[in-house]
Amino acid sequence: MSASLRFKVVDEAFRHAPLKTVLPKERPSDYFGKYVFNKQKMFKYLPAPIYAKMCDVIDNGAPLDRDVADAVAEGMKKWAMELGVTHYTHWFQPLTEGTAEKHDGFVEHDWKGGMVEEFEGKLLVQQEPDASSFPSGGIRSTFEARGYSAWDPTSPVFVLGDTLMIPTIFISYTGEALDYKFPLKKALYAVDKAATAVCQYFNPDVKKVVSNLGWEQEYFLVDESLYSARPDLVMTGRTLMGHDSAKNQQMDDHYFGSIPERVEEFMKDIEIQALELGIPCKTRHNEVAPNQFELAPIFEETNLAVDHNMLMMSLMKRVARKHGFRCLLHEKPFKGINGSGKHNNWSLSTDTGILLHAPGKTPEDNLRFVTFVVETLKGVYDHNGLLKASIISATNAHRLGANEAPPAIISSFLGKSVTALLEHVENADDDALSMDGKQAFKLDLPSIPEIFIDNTDRNRTSPFAFTGNRFEFRAVGSEANCASAMLTLNTAVADALTDFKTRVDALIAAGEDKHAAILKTVREDIKYIKPIIFNGNGYGDEWKIEAEKRGLDCETSAPLIFDNYLKPSSVMMFEKMGVMSEHELEARNEIKWETYTKKIQIESRIFGDLCLNHIIPVVTKYQSMLIDNVSKVLAIFPKEKAEAISKENLTIIEKISKHESFIIENVDKMVEARKVANHLESEREKAIAYHDTVAPLLEQIRYHVDKLECIVDDEAWPLPKYRELLFIR
Ligand code: ADP
Ligand code: MG
Repeated sequence: MSASLRFKVVDEAFRHAPLKTVLPKERPSDYFGKYVFNKQKMFKYLPAPIYAKMCDVIDNGAPLDRDVADAVAEGMKKWAMELGVTHYTHWFQPLTEGTAEKHDGFVEHDWKGGMVEEFEGKLLVQQEPDASSFPSGGIRSTFEARGYSAWDPTSPVFVLGDTLMIPTIFISYTGEALDYKFPLKKALYAVDKAATAVCQYFNPDVKKVVSNLGWEQEYFLVDESLYSARPDLVMTGRTLMGHDSAKNQQMDDHYFGSIPERVEEFMKDIEIQALELGIPCKTRHNEVAPNQFELAPIFEETNLAVDHNMLMMSLMKRVARKHGFRCLLHEKPFKGINGSGKHNNWSLSTDTGILLHAPGKTPEDNLRFVTFVVETLKGVYDHNGLLKASIISATNAHRLGANEAPPAIISSFLGKSVTALLEHVENADDDALSMDGKQAFKLDLPSIPEIFIDNTDRNRTSPFAFTGNRFEFRAVGSEANCASAMLTLNTAVADALTDFKTRVDALIAAGEDKHAAILKTVREDIKYIKPIIFNGNGYGDEWKIEAEKRGLDCETSAPLIFDNYLKPSSVMMFEKMGVMSEHELEARNEIKWETYTKKIQIESRIFGDLCLNHIIPVVTKYQSMLIDNVSKVLAIFPKEKAEAISKENLTIIEKISKHESFIIENVDKMVEARKVANHLESEREKAIAYHDTVAPLLEQIRYHVDKLECIVDDEAWPLPKYRELLFIR
């Protein structure tokens, strides 16, 4: 029976939509930022001195006074009300991965029997949501629930529906972070400070270094009605069972293929909405797996880019439903085909340009380039286990180490030219590296344009690849808040740069020339960072052995990877850089372990239900039908002939029994394993138990369910199959 008859897809009309080109009259540049209170709007809606003050707050981090906040709130309200907005909310990023908001109306009593719209500075600046309902890892307990959200003026407010959305940080009464944004902002401050100081060796005019992030969001779309018929997708975001589709990605015919029309409609819709919200969408294409797609905006300052990604993920989910789809952001919704990641393209820049840009013309530029590449790698090397912890989760664990994703080992691909450049700097004799005089500075390698060749032919197996003017952190999960990876990376780089400056300054103080001191320190570090550089195939088993020898973190168990946050070197780094205290790190880890446990627990429960309530009854019914058939054959034919006729059916009956008993026995075992784990006191031990004893059973049982899917009558199979879910019609 065909898929569309087994399960009706959402809207048949989508399948027959005529192919037509209808271009909107407005251009993206006309509506970009339409719903954002950006500087343009501020200029229009705020008094000139207030506008100037706000620019100082946004660009230079100047403090914000109450009367300025009042004036800004007034301007915002006016702008928002002209758009028909009635509510406002502090929008924050609790440690649940998503975003949170509580809407309040502008209305207040006018004390004459009517109402007025009001919005004061104090409401803009600070709110007090109930912190006890969000994960805090023990920082907040319910009886002292106070938590504050505080306005982040560097990420502009925007309008979504009838609500004015105000990006905020979320902190406890004691000032500790309960979110991702607060530590991210501190990390960005740390890297700015550290990188500016190093930049000033090369150009004393540099006042500020900005961290940039360009994310590429991968996702799957499935038809909404098929999705609804899969309780596992609905409850966990991934399929817990499902045999491979005969055709999936083996023909390589989806990647960059023409986008299905129904999907293109969705993409257009989401792009327009995103552009109106100031998200600079640029790229859209099919990804490797069937039904997998990607979208990417142009890079932005990291804090803003993170907010935009959070907003984009929630937009994608909403807009997909409008088109009869569900958008799956899970890292591995389907077994056997590629999962989804979110490449985080990262760089540092000053008002004078991007610091990681391929070497320039002058020796000075080149030395700066080498310094920033090497010190970035030093940060990544020193904290490679921690960086892995920053991207690992119960969901991303399915993707890392699988064959389409970076391995669960952090290393960096530099490509031929940069590798050669570093070798040159390391090995050339001092004269060849002289910065002064007429002698050509040998960092100015003639083969530099090759970097751009590397850029197109880059190593897709590398978790942290240099791609011409940036590093691409490819291990980040599609569902994750980029802030986790970005705050860790920026802090690690800040740490390396700070240490670098200390050593260079010491050499200068000892009488060394500035450039010689920089060169000497860089050369030391080039030697030191070698273990993190790996230009080979990250998927190969040889790499695991080699990486172990190099002392890189090769742990694959998520609960144990989280331990990296509490290693003395990590705690010291976060504290020294002023990003997080040990207490905050401990609290966050409690949440990480707890979340890990809950995710596996929910998966295991749903999976057990599906096995016992959906699969086994259907399979038993089918088996009885076969048994019935066999006994009827036995009744009408002589024994020998009847046995010959029923041979295949008897084999199937037996196979079904074997698979069934494995499933039933092991679902029981899984329940027992959960009980044992649930009794453990420590969140860490519990997560480890779920990882070691519950999660493997899910996989083992699934194997038998998937076998049954191939045996049982298609018409009777209760769940949409991969071949139905994975091909948009
Ligand atoms: P890919 O070939 O990896 O798909 P894209 O051209 O789609 O690359 O770009 C990926 C992302 O990298 C985009 O968001 C782009 O704006 C961003 N990007 C480009 N240059 C930089 C940079 N210097 N720093 C940070 N992000 C950058
Ligand atoms: Mg990319």
